[in-house]
Amino acid sequence: MGLESPAATAIGLLGGSFDPVHIGHLQLARDALKQLPLEHVRLIPAAQPWQKGPITAAEHRAKMVQLAIGADPQLVLDMHEIARGGITYTIDTLRELRVAEPARPLVLIMGSDQFARLDSWRDWQKIIETAHIAVAQRAGCSPSLPPELRAVVEARQGQIASVLSRAGGTIVEFTMTPTDVSATEVRRLLPQPRSTERSQRLSAMVPGPVLDYIDSHQLYRD
Ligand code: ATP
Repeated sequence: MGLESPAATAIGLLGGSFDPVHIGHLQLARDALKQLPLEHVRLIPAAQPWQKGPITAAEHRAKMVQLAIGADPQLVLDMHEIARGGITYTIDTLRELRVAEPARPLVLIMGSDQFARLDSWRDWQKIIETAHIAVAQRAGCSPSLPPELRAVVEARQGQIASVLSRAGGTIVEFTMTPTDVSATEVRRLLPQPRSTERSQRLSAMVPGPVLDYIDSHQLYRD
């Protein structure tokens, strides 16, 4: 998937369940924007992630992502996966995006926890051929890579600047301000009785407008 002439910018893609979106997601997207030649990052909530159980309704998760993005022009809510519905596979999303952007470099952004499991994703080798992958170290998470994935990393590892010379196929690393937050921890805290400590911890993990939305829609109560 080569390009006749190098593109000026790439498009960043950050998929997830965003159940709920938290500052780890925003930090990941913003650090990627600072270090990679990205025009913007699309935050793509999954309809039904294939590796997770029941999750909060898609309309709530999407609305929370929109509230977290606020007026940042470089972050964009992408509804492709929710609109497609059903179980979400990243390869289907990439194929859809490729129709609209046949030669544009696409950069799939992910934390190291998710990257370490990439070889369990549907058509994972095809994913790496279709888009570049940019991986950031996730705080408290240094998983070792399965051998087959490690071999692919060795063959495809590249410099950040090289993502503009091809539409996909390179694996790059970038650094992220460590942000020790997970949606699991946010969901664990939300049903607990109100206290100053709970509010302080939640405010440090979730953007204010998202917390207000969670409160007013009574999400994550049990
Ligand atoms: P859960 O706790 O429910 O598994 P999560 O917090 O891992 O959720 P996801 O929506 O599953 O959030 O993650 C989407 C993407 O964001 C993944 O690539 C994941 O690695 C990355 N990510 C999430 N939180 C962080 C974080 N604190 N630091 C770095 N990357 C993160």
